[in-house]
Amino acid sequence: MEKVKISFIDLVKRSYMVAIHFMRKPLYLVLSFFMLFGLVPSMAQTSSGAAWETVIHLNQKYINAAQIPSYYREYGFARSQVGSNKIRFTAKNKKTIIDFIVGSQEVFLNGLKFHFSYPVIVKGGKTLISQIDLVKLIDPILRPSNIGRSSVVKTVVIDAGHGGYEPGTVNRYGKEKEFTWKLAQKLREKLVRRGFKVAFTRNGDQYVSLNGRVEIANKYSDAIFVSLHFNAGGAGRAYGIETFTLSPAGVAHYGRGLKASDLKTRTGNAQDSANIALATAIHGRAIRNLKARDRGIRRARFNVITGVRHPGVLFEGGFMSHYKEGALIAKDAYLDQIAQSLFEGIVLYKTATEKRR
Ligand SMILES: [Zn+2]
Repeated sequence: MEKVKISFIDLVKRSYMVAIHFMRKPLYLVLSFFMLFGLVPSMAQTSSGAAWETVIHLNQKYINAAQIPSYYREYGFARSQVGSNKIRFTAKNKKTIIDFIVGSQEVFLNGLKFHFSYPVIVKGGKTLISQIDLVKLIDPILRPSNIGRSSVVKTVVIDAGHGGYEPGTVNRYGKEKEFTWKLAQKLREKLVRRGFKVAFTRNGDQYVSLNGRVEIANKYSDAIFVSLHFNAGGAGRAYGIETFTLSPAGVAHYGRGLKASDLKTRTGNAQDSANIALATAIHGRAIRNLKARDRGIRRARFNVITGVRHPGVLFEGGFMSHYKEGALIAKDAYLDQIAQSLFEGIVLYKTATEKRR
């Protein structure tokens, strides 16, 4: 009960602050703020006088993608069809390109892969995307400065995965707990140099429970949370980088089938918009800098990101079980590159979200 109460107050406070902030903004900006909280009415008026058209498909609300240009007018999007199944929106300045793949949950923003909660569909000649994907993914990325109160970043809580008697993944070069710890220290150094405060959820080779990590993180304010892990699996063949953010209410855990419990709002859902913006910034830098395989930004309800009150991500910096990537992760210079990417992503997020404050 308490959790629900807190996130509700949080929401009201934030609505109030941002409403003031947008008092002199054009109507479409005000509307997009309400969309962040899933409050978009089915026939919201856009600045052009057009309305978001909602279509129900398999009990889900969908919106017509053709309306994106009139809603995000500041981008000057032009729509085009690429091949048989790709719908592309290109901004006037060519710096933002969104690719929707019909029939797929994969969506690309400037080439960066995201996993939608529902596939893009074509119905009655219209390209439709689910409203939850518009509100919880597209909108916070296109307008990160709308995120509001949670966007102040003073402290970065670094959660080095595993520790103590829990080694995580093990390969011939070492243990996951050792690599996450090394990476955490490298990242701390860069952040401190830039004036950030840094907190760890564990000190050295120590076991801390997942709930314990959440408790430590939640002691801080004006913070973001970055959990560091390395992957394993895929019979040694899987490789690449993936970044997890908390599944919004109504979105399945880890892309599995939707269950009744998936409809519940969790502590971390108060930061849904900030979560995806942070993931985008970090994942984008990592893919660009490391030239690693892009496994995309994904949704899950891992304990640590479910419980934190800060914008948070769980970053999987590659597969220790892959012969090439496993060897790379064991290299100090590569860990340094990962740390640099995380650092740049954090700075980018801070800049983007604090821009219009
Ligand atoms: Zn792990």
